[in-house]
Amino acid sequence: MRKVAIVGAGQMGSGIAQTVAGHGIEVLLADVELSLAEKARAGIDRALGKLVGKGKIEITDAEAALARITPVAGYDAMADADLIIEAATEREDIKRSIFEAAGNVLGKDAILASNTSSIPITRMANWAPDPARFIGLHFFNPVPVMGLIEVIPGLATAEETTARMRAFAESLGKEVVLSQDEPGFVVNRILLPMINEAIFVLGQGTADVADIDKGCRLGLNHPMGPLQLADFVGLDTCLEIIRVLHGTTGDPRYRPAPLLVKYVEAGWLGRKAGRGFYDYSGEEPVPTR
Ligand code: NAD
Repeated sequence: MRKVAIVGAGQMGSGIAQTVAGHGIEVLLADVELSLAEKARAGIDRALGKLVGKGKIEITDAEAALARITPVAGYDAMADADLIIEAATEREDIKRSIFEAAGNVLGKDAILASNTSSIPITRMANWAPDPARFIGLHFFNPVPVMGLIEVIPGLATAEETTARMRAFAESLGKEVVLSQDEPGFVVNRILLPMINEAIFVLGQGTADVADIDKGCRLGLNHPMGPLQLADFVGLDTCLEIIRVLHGTTGDPRYRPAPLLVKYVEAGWLGRKAGRGFYDYSGEEPVPTR
């Protein structure tokens, strides 16, 4: 890979851009408007600065990585990208409009990938110019730290596309899990019902935020409790994923916890909003109930 375009410069798009640029690949970064992509690049600059401060990377490498990231407005500049990764909000209508726009410029050998957490790849492939070159490439948050990428071929994805994406993921120093295109793939199929159940437990007053998370940290040996993890993922994203699991399977065990719906309606979306199950306005996160 020589040049990778990323559409959606939120938590995931920024992390993907930082990781890809850190491995010597040119990155084009787009969002709904140029200023958002520029803001994301400034955030990546700060993240790289922290790594330099901690002695984890050399300042020259950080500067070189940042120099490889170019914020862009629109899709025209992506015509010579080898890969376009969609990392926008987890909503089908938004993703569809991106695939259609990206499809107008996608090079004849280039691949279009989605970082969706849960939306079926086979269905989204219909909105891509060539379903054989469409695939799920599911990164984990925070991307520079997490060692896994799920590769999810849809029904029409060519074997060559899957092989190229596996090689790309490995070139970023990540391990690959190959998942069939089933709701939630592998990891979120297991994780989201757990997060949703933790929110039911909270909503029913069985325990408070701190004790639910402590119970899973110490009782299950998880590095982080499910409510804190939900805040990291983003509660809007959690709700969209659980709704996709519910909608695609029709199985009532995936019905969203009412408290999750309420938090999203309140705009308490987790760490990115400054408030979710924890309040992030101070030095340390404080449980909110
Ligand atoms: P986010 O809310 O931080 O970022 C989404 C970004 O998409 C925003 O910057 C938004 O402005 C942008 N966007 C919206 N519409 C757009 C459009 N039409 N064109 C270009 N950009 C647009 O969300 P996120 O956590 O970065 O999630 C992005 C995707 O990654 C989702 O599909 C999500 O399911 C997936 N994902 C999230 C996580 C996680 O832990 N948060 C992990 C893996 C995958």
